[in-house]
Amino acid sequence: MKFEAITVENIPLVNNGDDLPSIICENIELQDRDIVIVASTIVAKAEGETFRLEDITAGEKALEIAARNGKDARFIQAVLARSKEVLVEMPFMLVTTLSGHTCVNAGIDESNIEHGFFLHSPINPDASTLKLGKRLEKISGKKLSVIITDTNGRAFKIGQTGVAIGVYKIKPIKRWIGEKDLFGKILEITEEAIVDELSGAANLLMGEGAGGIPAVVIRGLDYYCEENTSINEIYRPEENDVIKHGLRCLQKTTNKEDTSFRVKILD
Ligand code: GDP
Ligand code: MN
Ligand code: MN
Repeated sequence: MKFEAITVENIPLVNNGDDLPSIICENIELQDRDIVIVASTIVAKAEGETFRLEDITAGEKALEIAARNGKDARFIQAVLARSKEVLVEMPFMLVTTLSGHTCVNAGIDESNIEHGFFLHSPINPDASTLKLGKRLEKISGKKLSVIITDTNGRAFKIGQTGVAIGVYKIKPIKRWIGEKDLFGKILEITEEAIVDELSGAANLLMGEGAGGIPAVVIRGLDYYCEENTSINEIYRPEENDVIKHGLRCLQKTTNKEDTSFRVKILD
């Protein structure tokens, strides 16, 4: 078995309003069932999601958090504006974004953008992926899956990896439940996060620095799905989320004077 991961070369610096599907199709001949993986950075740039701290006025909550964690209150305000819950304030902001993705700083990036500018993550990544997917299919005339990725840390390991934040025509999870193992035992709980695995593979070719490779095509794996799909399928239901529950409990038990580690939930 094998699959290919192909970089899309010659993509220019992306600007507000750029037509990413046209740019991608000009630089690679897509085939049926290709999985087009696009870095959230260029989606956000094309959506005009850039800002400067000078444009932001910090609210009360941002000022409160800044007093505790020592970060720029305007940056915290930008994070809060895209968050529905703050799970950790110190030593970094771990939040659940408006769209349900849990990550540091609501995915706001300062890298790979001009000095003095910041980049939000796409506000509705599934909607962005749907738009990209429909137009990529229209231009190329092929049946395609699309994933928007970002680079995220993991809770229990150092090092970041590519993860999916939006999907089009690919199911985020492959369920192995009911399949047999090598010894005929029925698998009871295994679910494979294929869109994160694919994002990790694509991220290997993108890198994090000046590589200039914000899109990768995975060819040779058949994960195409006729119906529209949603990244929400990969988010753990609230009632089963032991880690979030633990972080919320910590907030209740943490001494308010102890600023070394704090968890706070927005009103
Ligand atoms: P993220 O993981 O979505 O936050 O994106 P990164 O900032 O890590 O960038 C991923 C890849 O895209 C790297 O190879 C960057 O050099 C590249 N990249 C970022 N912005 C642009 C752009 O506007 N044009 C091009 N060609 N590459 C970009
Ligand atoms: Mn990022
Ligand atoms: Mn990255």
